[in-house]
Amino acid sequence: MNSKKLLLTSVFGPYGVDNKYGKSLGMQMELLDNQVTRGQGVHSPRQSYLSFGLYLIAENISIPTTVLDFPVWKDFIKELKNGYTHIGITFIPPNILKVKRMCEYIRKHYPKIEIILGGYGVVIPNLEKIVPFDHLSNGEGVIWMRKFFNEDLDKPLKHPVLKNPIYSRVYGINSEPRGSVLLTGVGCKNGCSFCVTSHMFNKSYLPLLKTADDVFNTCLDIEKKLNVQNFMIMDENFLMVEERAKELLKLMEKNMKTYVFVLFCSANLIKKLGVDFFVRMGISRVWIGVESMTYQHEKVKGIDVKGLISELRSKGIVVLASTILFQEHHDYETIEKEIKWVNSLDSDMVQFMNYMPIPSTTLYKEMKESNRLNNLPYEKQSGAMELAFEHPYIKNPKQHISILKNAFKSKYHYSGPAIFKMAQTALMGYQQGVKELKKQKEYNLVWNSESLKYEVNENWSEDSYLKKRIEMIKKEALRYRVLLKTALIFSPNRKIKQEIKILIKEFSITFGKMSFSDKIKSNIVKMMAIKESFIEKIWKLKGYEGIIHQPPMIKTVYRE
Ligand code: SF4
Repeated sequence: MNSKKLLLTSVFGPYGVDNKYGKSLGMQMELLDNQVTRGQGVHSPRQSYLSFGLYLIAENISIPTTVLDFPVWKDFIKELKNGYTHIGITFIPPNILKVKRMCEYIRKHYPKIEIILGGYGVVIPNLEKIVPFDHLSNGEGVIWMRKFFNEDLDKPLKHPVLKNPIYSRVYGINSEPRGSVLLTGVGCKNGCSFCVTSHMFNKSYLPLLKTADDVFNTCLDIEKKLNVQNFMIMDENFLMVEERAKELLKLMEKNMKTYVFVLFCSANLIKKLGVDFFVRMGISRVWIGVESMTYQHEKVKGIDVKGLISELRSKGIVVLASTILFQEHHDYETIEKEIKWVNSLDSDMVQFMNYMPIPSTTLYKEMKESNRLNNLPYEKQSGAMELAFEHPYIKNPKQHISILKNAFKSKYHYSGPAIFKMAQTALMGYQQGVKELKKQKEYNLVWNSESLKYEVNENWSEDSYLKKRIEMIKKEALRYRVLLKTALIFSPNRKIKQEIKILIKEFSITFGKMSFSDKIKSNIVKMMAIKESFIEKIWKLKGYEGIIHQPPMIKTVYRE
């Protein structure tokens, strides 16, 4: 019998509140509200995700393992009583004080337990001087754990079956999560100087689901078990393994499976593969690092980013553009220009993040060598607070926080709520799709899976796969439609109000009048949003930017 027993846990909550163990800014467990739709108040879609890596590890080792996700302190110390020999804690640098408290408690009350630390927090130099621990798991977690516990390294990877997100809430209404997650690979070979993901994996990419068959079979398995078809792909650049992506599309087409994916992709790769390929692949949302107007990274060099975003949106693909503020060439003038530029790209959403020299990256090394790091405590290094280095032009830490906050505000006032933009994108995608089908028929166009283009072919037949995809985009658009009246009521200014009115009309022209049941739904959304905005005001009176939701604690036991 195996005498080892492992607990894998995330750091303890509550999250996103200021206390002894954490700073609130940027530290709540919601990616969108935290760093994308921040400042959009009642419009902000609220979602929280699991600590995916812990489940992947638990599935792929053989010792009894428990995963504890989002425990509060009481849950954590209660769980420790269950006779563990090893505890693995995943954390990021801003959670340093939380992991310190957890490890000190384990050492004091359970000195025989071996502590393993993982996650991006392990890049902190001289971590042992801050936190007591026994082992650092760096690199890919499954390989590390299998080596550590002397297990078979060649055993095929078992992908976890996880509902994603944990919760989903819009305008105060909770909806059942409709998706899952695919963990297809880690790392990235692009090696951007600030990127910890790339540096953590030595500027290389390690596929977890190596072939298109692996990905497709995982989708089939998850669909069977959870009845879902939407997948968030946790992989910095999934499409970079082009053959895997192309083969995956062929498999989906052959089996008439219209899975839907949300993923990250660099602009140069989107250009190379083409937007039509994205449509057929069912990519509903893409996250593109546009980074900077004034300093062009390789991945966007020479690309008309605005044109690309416009084409993606016109074909129904929601674009989340991300940019970095306080790069070294930014002074007061250029940073404002940069913010205006990224807003003018007219993506559905923008992630603004402050420039961060994270340990292990080239940027960190360069700044350390030139003595420009300023010893900002790790708990403040979230990318939403003051800078961790001496900026050549913008030196006041309060401005590092306020310029970032105002950037989100300016996006909201320029483009309106993300919900409105996504509804617009879905409608455009549907309209364009219908035109595309007509064009195919008129000109005998057929999809060529090698050239990734529509080409004239005398053996034309109806593109039933694209037709199915377009039906799905239609359903998505109609889901947004019931939210638009509420988006209108809470719109930030007259210009946006006008744009939402036009969109509502456009929906009526395209789909006819709203059904009776949709009218009822629309009214319910309105009432719930009014209630939510009232609750939000109470949170604001307490000094918060908005409502902070805490994910529920989730305990999963593998092999008792
Ligand atoms: S492309 Fe993205 S994931 Fe890859 S190194 Fe650059 S920032 Fe990191």
